Amino acid sequence: MNKSSIVPESGEHAELRASVAALVGRYGHGYFVERARKHSEPTGLWKELGAAGFLGVHLPEDYGGGGGTLADLSVVIEQTSASGCPLLMTVISPAICGTILARHGSEAMKKRWLTGIADGSIKMAFAITEPDAGSNSHEITTTAHPDGDGWRISGTKYWTSGVDVADAILVVARSGSAAQDAQRSGAGPAQDAQRSGAGTRRPLSLFVVPTDSPGLTYQTIEAALVQPEHQFTVFFDDVAVGPEALIGDDGNGLRQVFSGLNPERITAASISNGISLYALEKATAYANERAVWGVPIGSHQGVAHPLAECYIAVAQARLMAARAAELFDAGEDAAEASNIAKFAAAEASLRALDQSMQVHGGNGMALEYGLADLWFLARMLKTAPVSREMVLNFVAQRSLGLPASY
Ligand SMILES: Cc1cc2nc3c(=O)[nH]c(=O)nc-3n(C[C@H](O)[C@H](O)[C@H](O)COP(=O)(O)OP(=O)(O)OC[C@H]3O[C@@H](n4cnc5c(N)ncnc54)[C@H](O)[C@@H]3O)c2cc1C
Repeated sequence: MNKSSIVPESGEHAELRASVAALVGRYGHGYFVERARKHSEPTGLWKELGAAGFLGVHLPEDYGGGGGTLADLSVVIEQTSASGCPLLMTVISPAICGTILARHGSEAMKKRWLTGIADGSIKMAFAITEPDAGSNSHEITTTAHPDGDGWRISGTKYWTSGVDVADAILVVARSGSAAQDAQRSGAGPAQDAQRSGAGTRRPLSLFVVPTDSPGLTYQTIEAALVQPEHQFTVFFDDVAVGPEALIGDDGNGLRQVFSGLNPERITAASISNGISLYALEKATAYANERAVWGVPIGSHQGVAHPLAECYIAVAQARLMAARAAELFDAGEDAAEASNIAKFAAAEASLRALDQSMQVHGGNGMALEYGLADLWFLARMLKTAPVSREMVLNFVAQRSLGLPASY
């Protein structure tokens, strides 16, 4: 595939991309799949990404980070994925948890957790989804009850990735009193405050809960995904945490968690876009090489045009992801761009991967060709971390001004 200038890339980003490609390229897709199939951690790769400063590239220098931007992290994650190693944990630990802690954590909390997230020695899982509160996070029932100086957390989280390999979980829970919630109902975006049942439900707060806390247990959810991490149902049975576990202000969790959700969407888009680049690279190489009628199959328009269409969709998705990161880094409202970027990237990557498999004929199913094993990850990104329907709801209501349907 030729290099394109459609997605603007500064000299610094081009260098960053080349360094990431060189590092991850030494491991490659074979390494990733070998680890992922056994659900064993890609420890060597993760350590090297941390040591090179890639995992913490966007985090403050005072806490071991590179002092860079989310756009920098997006380049790292997209290229790691494009080099055949799409790592979900890069979205969860550095992008979501790292960003929330950098923005809202206390000094002690940043010292305790951020430096390790930046160098890769600490992993943090993120738990917002619950069995009865998936797309609708206003239904969250996990609760933190005040207990002396600290808290006691009870409830169940669902589909939490990587708990068994994480040192701590960033947990979204209800705390405080309903009266506080009524007072704070103006804090979040209007629709969220309106639907949060302000005045009737306790407000949300964020906590960092060490995974070895007594009362915290988890159960694997068997999933089709080829990824190093398992997903879990996590049970909090009166888990005691000290005052230092609370991120920022009690009851201000809705606003605080939002600072992690746009990075989540943007970097999830980076994983999808990386899968797209990886798939298109493989498809074009194969289409240039494979000849069944005396000419390379790529010379048949039935093969070339669908790939060209995929290329166009991928270029649009990457451009939108770059714009979303730019808005986020400029401190502007990045919600619309992040949602659209995530949607476009997930759709484009499924299409690019599917077409690449099609171009490979039967070999598209052969594990040796390194495509089929990415299928469920690409498919999952259509549903998580935010589903395509919830993005469409957002666009219908916020961008188009249509009435809410729920
Ligand atoms: C592999 C994997 C890893 C994950 N990792 C994490 C993690 O680390 N931490 C975490 O907290 N969560 C995680 N999740 C959960 C993920 O974020 C949720 O699955 C996702 O947000 C969708 O929620 P749900 O599964 O409860 O679906 P539901 O909310 O039950 O929705 C089911 C379907 O109905 C649609 N739907 C729901 N409401 C509406 C509506 N109002 N309008 C139109 N359509 C609607 C949805 O789009 C979806 O298609 C993970 C999920 C997976 C599959």
